[in-house]
Amino acid sequence: MATQAGTATYSFTDKTILITGGAGDFGRAVDHRFASSGAGIILLDLNETKQAEVAAELANYKVPIASLRCDVTNVDEVKATFDRAINQFGHIDYVFNNAGYQGAFATTDNYPEDDFRKVIEINVVGVFHVLKTAATCLKQQGGGAIVNTASYAGVVGPANMLAYGASKFAVIGMTQTAAKDLALHKIRVNALSPALIGPGYMWTRQTELQAAVGSQYFDTDPKVVEQQMIQSVPMRRLGSLEEVASGVAFLMSEEATYITGFNLEITGGQ
Ligand code: NAD
Repeated sequence: MATQAGTATYSFTDKTILITGGAGDFGRAVDHRFASSGAGIILLDLNETKQAEVAAELANYKVPIASLRCDVTNVDEVKATFDRAINQFGHIDYVFNNAGYQGAFATTDNYPEDDFRKVIEINVVGVFHVLKTAATCLKQQGGGAIVNTASYAGVVGPANMLAYGASKFAVIGMTQTAAKDLALHKIRVNALSPALIGPGYMWTRQTELQAAVGSQYFDTDPKVVEQQMIQSVPMRRLGSLEEVASGVAFLMSEEATYITGFNLEITGGQ
């Protein structure tokens, strides 16, 4: 019998997960998945309004919740936020290193330099800050698991997304190296590479901005772009946020204790 995504249960009771980008679409789905499985949630984001909304939703689960504003591009803030989280929760077991920015959509010859730097600053340098701080913290505690959000854009360079693709290739590279460096410290490090996931902010944004580029790959009508993208997926549908959360839960779980340095593609067969 087929199971519905989101119904598989791993017990994360008495565990704590720190989630960057915790107020975004993926973060929120993962917050709910772990809170419903008994974990305490440390939700980091830049967007305090969305953080407050998500934290209010999580109150129903009766697990410890902390919502902390943190800009992952600022290493001092990242370190201070981890310290605050440890003081409050005593320990961190899992880190979902997930905050990210999609960047501009433009052909290579038109790609804006300032946006290229912004994408790399958030998706590469920010991910590095969180990965390094998490490694230090989990090492002191004797182990744990980290999942870095990459993207299928880090497996195949997507058209018109020069900076984003480059940044996600880097996330997969950092994952492979960190997994080797941290293996003997009982810290597993894996990556997650979703492709077309929706509905959500990034899905809508990419159909609109790919249409606006007017390249050979997509129509100029975002509604047609949606269909073009869905037709490129062998399963002919978008993945859901719950299916992304299932991948994170699996990689963090006791079912994945010999899996490290792996990039889990969630692509519907692409
Ligand atoms: P989202 O925009 O809904 O969430 C991203 C969150 O990160 C936002 O809440 C934002 O405030 C936060 N953020 C951005 N910059 C930050 C910073 N400097 N410090 C702290 N927080 C910051 O997007 P999402 O769909 O939830 O994406 C989450 C991750 O998944 C990203 O890394 C994205 O690249 C990746 N991803 C998304 C998709 C998709 O289709 N949605 C597919 C593949 C990979």
